[in-house]
Amino acid sequence: MFEPTIGLEIHIQLQTNSKMFCSCKNSYGDPPNTNICPVCLGHPGTLPVLNWEAVKLATKLALALNCRINKESYFARKNYFYPDLPKGYQITQYKKPLAEDGYIQLKNGKKIRIKRLHIEEDSGKSIHTENGTLIDFNRCGVPLAEIVTEPDISSPEEAVEFLHALRKIAIYTGVSDADMEKGNMRCDANLSLKPEGSSELGTKTEVKNLNSFRFLAKALNYEIKRQEKLLKEGKRIVQETRGFDSKRGETFPMRSKEEAHDYRYFPEPDLPPLILDNSFLEEIKSSIPELHWQREERFMREFGLDEETASVLCAEKEIGDFFEETLKLYNNPRDLANWIKTEVLKLWKENLMVSSEALAELLTFVDQGKLSRLKAKEVLEDMARTGKSPSIIIEEKGLVQISDEESLRKIIDRVIAQNPDKVEKYRKGKKGLMGFFVGQVMKETRGKANPKLVNKILVEVLENDK
Ligand SMILES: [Zn+2]
Repeated sequence: MFEPTIGLEIHIQLQTNSKMFCSCKNSYGDPPNTNICPVCLGHPGTLPVLNWEAVKLATKLALALNCRINKESYFARKNYFYPDLPKGYQITQYKKPLAEDGYIQLKNGKKIRIKRLHIEEDSGKSIHTENGTLIDFNRCGVPLAEIVTEPDISSPEEAVEFLHALRKIAIYTGVSDADMEKGNMRCDANLSLKPEGSSELGTKTEVKNLNSFRFLAKALNYEIKRQEKLLKEGKRIVQETRGFDSKRGETFPMRSKEEAHDYRYFPEPDLPPLILDNSFLEEIKSSIPELHWQREERFMREFGLDEETASVLCAEKEIGDFFEETLKLYNNPRDLANWIKTEVLKLWKENLMVSSEALAELLTFVDQGKLSRLKAKEVLEDMARTGKSPSIIIEEKGLVQISDEESLRKIIDRVIAQNPDKVEKYRKGKKGLMGFFVGQVMKETRGKANPKLVNKILVEVLENDK
């Protein structure tokens, strides 16, 4: 049997207003080639000017990832030719990166070490069409943080958990929206197999551009099977870079792996060393907000939520914010958490949202017995689709629950009078008939009777009135 060794390399776009080395806008989705200038197009004679905001964000992310910050780090040129890299080199950090030696702790307590975090610039984007390849340089020079892990990950599940945690940290710190669909967070994974228990690592392959959590898991599972088959047949693993075909769920060879010396790294002559002082680091440290795992712990401690619920509420920062906002208006954390976890999130997945005020109003109606839980779910969906307030929907649909004892008694008396034979059977011991009576009351009230109250009155009438 073989066990996998996995390492990840993740690129995260930093949410700055302008690019890394020029004042062009850093903005996603603009018309192609509108945010460009001679600097990011690499015209001869232009010089880069460092965007300090990008340094701040990268440092914030590094500190949130428990990294040690190098107070002096250097920029380097990584030379390679590619159509979407007009300079013919990428400005990155090589020998001494911004930060090293961090980690993320998984739920099971295992720490996945982060080897380094460095700043670099993004390339442009090639768009392949039937008539040829088009190039959009808007992304060229957008600031990135690249995070490289140690090969500490031992399953596709751990890889996915690590990436989820990293994404949450990037979002909670406000460093990036880490939207994988937009390519604002991109992941490469390397994987090798070794005989179980062996300490010697096997030959690894790297899979590029895994742009969703699902693809990461699929690509790793595929690589494990592929390599396992080769090793069992006594064949050799070729060290190479592979792509992932998401339609077929398979990886395929792209090119043989480059070595660092292929890039002819050398120090960037146009930028001075990046020097950070203590007061800068202290300022950044104090600006790091509560992170998702800290919030989860607080939700469990303060509101008595179980771990699973807390984790669902903190998975997206906006959901956690929504929970806390609504809690100010509806002070029943466990009930509220359950509503959000189930009903609100179901709507959220369809891009439907309700306001804190409206949800609090709805749940208060339920607590007051004016609306059944079942009907409340219906109203909630209507609220999200129409934007109307719960009271208006309840009125329009005539959903107000009958919770007034006097009117219910009248209806129950009528039902009892109409079914003397069943009443007799019930009183002789056929208790299962309770369901029939409840059903009749519901029918009479078109489902609007408060079921708890109906049960209570029925028991009273049938048991005592002999
Ligand atoms: Zn520019």
